[in-house]
This record gives sequence, C-alpha cells and structure tokens, in this order.
Amino acid sequence: MKTVYNFSAGPAVLPSPVLEKVQRELLDYEGTGMSVMELSHRSAPFQKIIDGAEALLRELLSIPENYHVLFMQGGASLQFSMIPLNLLGPHETAEYIVTGSWSKKAVKEADKVGEVRTHTPDAQTAIPAYRAKGFSESSRYVHITSNNTIEGTRFNEYPDTGDVPLIADMSSHILSEKIDVSRFGLIYAGAQKNLGPSGVTVAIIRKDLVGNTPEYCPALLNYETYVKHGSLFNTPPTFSIYVLKLVLEWVKENGGVEGMEECNQEKAQLLYSCIDQSGLFHNTVSEANRSLMNIPFTAGSDEVNARFLNEAKEAGFEFLKGHRSVGGMRASLYNAMPVEGVQALVNFMKNFEKNEVKEDHHAVN
Ligand SMILES: *Cc1c(COP(=O)(O)O)cnc(C)c1O
Repeated sequence: MKTVYNFSAGPAVLPSPVLEKVQRELLDYEGTGMSVMELSHRSAPFQKIIDGAEALLRELLSIPENYHVLFMQGGASLQFSMIPLNLLGPHETAEYIVTGSWSKKAVKEADKVGEVRTHTPDAQTAIPAYRAKGFSESSRYVHITSNNTIEGTRFNEYPDTGDVPLIADMSSHILSEKIDVSRFGLIYAGAQKNLGPSGVTVAIIRKDLVGNTPEYCPALLNYETYVKHGSLFNTPPTFSIYVLKLVLEWVKENGGVEGMEECNQEKAQLLYSCIDQSGLFHNTVSEANRSLMNIPFTAGSDEVNARFLNEAKEAGFEFLKGHRSVGGMRASLYNAMPVEGVQALVNFMKNFEKNEVKEDHHAVN
C-alpha cells in the first residue's frame, strides 16, 4: 500500500492502531460472535462501550462531577440549533463572538430563536481578548468557536464572561490541548476531526444548564432527554461511539491530552516555521492566534497553488486543498497525524520551492 498522509479537515485521519483494532474485531466483538455493528444498543457489551467512552473522556479532560457528558447526532451543526432552543428564550439575548464561517452559521440558527448580539474582531486573522465588561450580565450565554477550522485561528485566551456561561464549539481541536472545563457552561464537538468517525457529537454540559427547556422543544433536541436516558433515548450511532472509545484509549496510551499537546506543538511548529522561512508560502494569521490544528497557506498565485496541490497529491499528501471560501491550501494536523507526516510535507514544500525558484531562473535567462 502506498504511504498516504491525510491532511483532511474532516472527516479526518484516524490513528492507524485504532483502524487495525477495528479490523481485527470487526467480525467478532470480544467473543460475542457478532460485529459491534450488529449489537443492540440495549445490550450489556454496548452499555460497556458507551460507559467506557464517557469515563475515558472524563478522565482525559478532567471533567468535573457537575457536568454531564452526552453523545448525540446531527453534528456540530445541530448544536447550533439545540443550544438556543434549550438555553435562549424568545425575548432573551445571547452573545456570539464571530471569528469565522462556523460562528456565522451558529449565529444564523440562534437568530431564529432569540435575540443575538454579535462581537466581530476587526480582521479574521486575529482574535482579541474579551473582558466581562464587554458582555451584558443578563445575556443567557456567550458563544465562541474556539478553533476556527477554515480560517486557521484559535483563541489564545478564552473570554472572561463573568457569570454568563461560556459555550464553545471545540469541534476541530477538542483533546488537542489542555483545557479547564470548569470555565465553560457547555463544550461541544462533532467527532470527525479529533475524536473519531462522523456520526456522533459530544457535549459536555454543566448540570445547572439542563432542565429549563421550553415544553415545545422536540425530545431529541432537548439535552434533558439525553441526560435522563444516558444518551440512549433512541438508537445512538453505535459504531461511531465504539470507534470514538478506541480513539480515546489511543489518546490515553499516548500520554493523554498533555502528550497530544506536546506532539501538536511540535507538528505545528514544524509547518509554521517552514512557511515563515519560505519565500513562496504564506500564512497571514497573527502569531498568538495561530491554530495548532488547521494551517491555511498560499503559494502566491492560483496557478502555483494548483500546481502545488497536484504535485502534492501525486506524492501522497491528500486533501491539502483549502476551503472553497478561502482558496489556497490547508493542512489539518489533528491528533492522529503523525510527526513524520508533517516532516514529509515540510520536505516536500522545501523541494517544491527550490524547483519553483530554479524554473523562474530559467525563465529569466
Ligand atoms: C466541522 C465543523 C463544524 C460542522 O460540523 P458538522 O459535524 O458537519 O455539523 C462546526 N464547527 C466547527 C468548528 C467545525 O470545525
């Protein structure tokens, strides 16, 4: 099999030991004689899987006792709707810090439910610090996209929101670095970036934020339903939860979140310093807000970008094309991307640049 490094923004690379384990267990899950895909979600082996996934996530993120961990469907996008439906009345206000495309989509859904006040940084390449005095004490919550998958930015410092609950869409960097869960009212993430395959969404919600949802809210959109039924009110995405649990085991075996963070710093450093030292490649994000996970860059012109992408694909570097709204390139360096993958990409970029310079030189002569 050809060596391929997958830089997709999501669904994204999974740790190979996890995929190998899935393969080994696929036809006979722990001696049951059945595939994990065939097990009832009400069965003892599946209960063990979902309990195990929750326990591991609690351990890895040091989630305090006063938080629920929920497994849902609908992706982060459904959370854009669930959050206001559960936490925002028609005449109440929520505040959204708009740092990119995903924040805008979250605002759009909240706007349908209540009043939204937005805070938009001057440029999409930097995120300022936000202090409690900038928010109204009567707001129901403040929402942020803590890592901006498309723009390649992240909060360097989380907003101080005083007593107003802070809600974070951590889809593209959960488990990539240490966080203090107690600073948040609600954290949510679609799994397909750093947690596992698509199909499952994780929410970590402070207990006091559950239970005040209006009567008209559909059962499956009410956090309380998931709390009361241990995320098993209806059939959950059982296979995705199983793989998610294996990913969490892999994170634990590899030094936990601290181990991930150290490795992610090293990978990001490798690529950013390659870009910064290059005369060809550029990344315009302010240094303090550079994402460790999603690194957009360009090579000066659409023509060179296209040539780079073609040659990179030939060489086994997959999904480096930037988001259609931004263009250029984007390398996503999630937890499961090995350092060797980034090192190989950096070597490839250096060679590509060398050849570009050479060709330019010929053209001049
Ligand atoms: C990918 C992504 C989403 C959308 O996730 P879906 O699971 O497709 O709904 C939302 N927010 C962020 C920050 C993302 O990276």
